[in-house]
Amino acid sequence: MRSGRNNGLVIAIDGPSGAGKSTLTRLLAQRLGYIHIDTGAMYRTLALAVSRSGLPLDDEAAVAALCGGIEIRFRRDDGGYRVIANGEDVSLAIRTPEISMLTSQISAQGGVREILLKLQHEMGREGGVILEGRDIGTVVFPDAEVKFFLSATPLERGQRRFLELRDKGVQATLEDTVAAVVQRDEQDAARELAPLKKAPDAVEIDSTGITIEEVLSRMEQLVRERVPSP
Ligand code: C5P
Repeated sequence: MRSGRNNGLVIAIDGPSGAGKSTLTRLLAQRLGYIHIDTGAMYRTLALAVSRSGLPLDDEAAVAALCGGIEIRFRRDDGGYRVIANGEDVSLAIRTPEISMLTSQISAQGGVREILLKLQHEMGREGGVILEGRDIGTVVFPDAEVKFFLSATPLERGQRRFLELRDKGVQATLEDTVAAVVQRDEQDAARELAPLKKAPDAVEIDSTGITIEEVLSRMEQLVRERVPSP
């Protein structure tokens, strides 16, 4: 398959929270020599700014104006990345359970989505990128050359999130984490704009009970089948 893009393909990875998107995107990007774009981190960064501003969420015009003034960058770091907002490293601050929930609320607003849609297009259009999120294969890059939709049972996703939070030193219980993951997915799937859903041409992989390594190999094989030398 020829992509017509200068740097390679656009690969879209969508799915609910805790489905393993971040880890798999990072590892697949390393194997392919592609750039990893974590669109969830971009929404989180805007949510953090809104939270700090104290703006009422229902003032959508003010929320969009604030978000439009935030410059988001990814700084590559040791096989991973740091998230930089107007020069500040917000990588840790955007990962709290409170910011997760607020992100799901503000990401339903058209003004916020418009800002990030434009930025994500700019970041990805030359190819050589893997974008992970909720609407990459459906809205951001419906013409992506390869699309995956990752899933897993709510319990498994909640458990993964819980372990991630624990590793980062964030206080949470397993029960609350599973409930929060389910609530966020319901919100993301039910919203009017760019809801969480599988693109008709995405390859769905249910990772329940399968190791990351197995899923990764399956994904890499699929990409390489479609493109002999990405
Ligand atoms: O992937 P992550 O859990 O970091 O995403 C946080 C939130 O950002 C999601 O629950 C969703 O509300 C929002 N999001 C989105 N569209 C994307 C990526 C994330 O609405 N492409």
